Amino acid sequence: MKNQDLEKRRSKIMPRGAGILCNFYVQKTDNATIWDEEGRAFTDFSCGIAVLNTGHNHPLIKNAIQKQLELFTHTAFQIVPYEIYVSLAERIADIVPIRGDKKTMFFSTGAEAVENAIKIARAFTGRSGLLAFSGSFHGRTHMGLALTGKNAPYKTGFGPFPSGIYHLPFPSPTLNVTVEDSIKALENLFKADIDPKSVAAVIIEPIQGEGGFYVAPIELMTRLRALCNEHGIVLIADEIQSGFGRTGKMFCMEHFGVEPDLITVAKSIAAGLPLSGVCGKAHIMDGPSPGGLGGTYAGNPLAIAAAHAVLDVLEKENLCSRSIRLGNKLKEVLIAESHHNPYIKEVRGIGSMMAIEFYDPISNTPSASIASKVQKNALEKQLLLLTCGVYGNVIRFLYPLTIPDQQFENALSDLVNAIREASDELASV
Ligand code: PMP
Repeated sequence: MKNQDLEKRRSKIMPRGAGILCNFYVQKTDNATIWDEEGRAFTDFSCGIAVLNTGHNHPLIKNAIQKQLELFTHTAFQIVPYEIYVSLAERIADIVPIRGDKKTMFFSTGAEAVENAIKIARAFTGRSGLLAFSGSFHGRTHMGLALTGKNAPYKTGFGPFPSGIYHLPFPSPTLNVTVEDSIKALENLFKADIDPKSVAAVIIEPIQGEGGFYVAPIELMTRLRALCNEHGIVLIADEIQSGFGRTGKMFCMEHFGVEPDLITVAKSIAAGLPLSGVCGKAHIMDGPSPGGLGGTYAGNPLAIAAAHAVLDVLEKENLCSRSIRLGNKLKEVLIAESHHNPYIKEVRGIGSMMAIEFYDPISNTPSASIASKVQKNALEKQLLLLTCGVYGNVIRFLYPLTIPDQQFENALSDLVNAIREASDELASV
């Protein structure tokens, strides 16, 4: 009853523009479990949209936040600075896959990290043009939306957006786009629309998150790197969703052996406290002049304290290797299922950044309806799943890397049953 009453109040007071997945309300959480207001326990395969790689309420992280709470919660770093910010900046610079001298700056949200990466690239190059990919997601501010390669629902009704932004097709076998197609589009763009010497930056998610967990082919990354070197363009890797162990490495770019110039981070960096950052080559980071970068809450002390503890937990609990182990198990189960389920088009991903894509086997077109039926069936089994994809036909898996083995096993069998039930429902129509 509590859930229903709350839902009534919420829909009356909140604008319809806020889309909300669950109709139950959280009361408390622990590791991979969410309890609702009526006492039901859900296994969380959403992690608050990829934020809780270290789980809900990890005791070490909670303790670090509590300790910081006793000391100070806000001074505005640009007014009175604090040591934990500086040491976190050093730690992040130590772990990003970029060689040489690096600098780091913190902000509050992913969109803000993207905004600032673009400001840094523009100030450094003195150019304004920007390249991004179709299907990408880079945030809900106007620059974030301009870079985002998906219109509905994100951009609908919100324009005009900043200009000088061009989208390239993102390679994927299921979308019938090859690396050659993407590079050709880029070459055409340079011929027809924008001189490469007017381009400040290319921004790319090494694995598209909201777009459908499409993994960028290594060849694309290598060729982008070469083109950026040739034309003096800044290569920005948006690792906001793929960072901090999700793919089995601290950052996804490590799988490619290609160095970006700047990396944007957020989400799992601080286990749910609002923190984001840009880290990259020192001379590029120094592009903007003093006072050009900042934010009242940027690098909030509680969030910074949480991030230090997150890095400790990722290391102490070997969460990168656990990410690979769990991801392999999930992949094995889903691939076995795909052998006799005609709706499963592809299982893809790296480490625990894994997804399953559904197609209608008769029309061979993306099927959002089966993905949403699987999501609904799983929710009835108290397993919380997220969809994604330009066509909404992909389910992505974002469980905490700390999930207990038995709970993970149980969730996988619920998942398989949810998929089977959804396929049976559709086959009987
Ligand atoms: N970039 C990527 C790759 C993301 O996945 C997201 C969030 N889904 C963002 C940027 C924006 O982050 P935020 O919602 O914290 O602004």
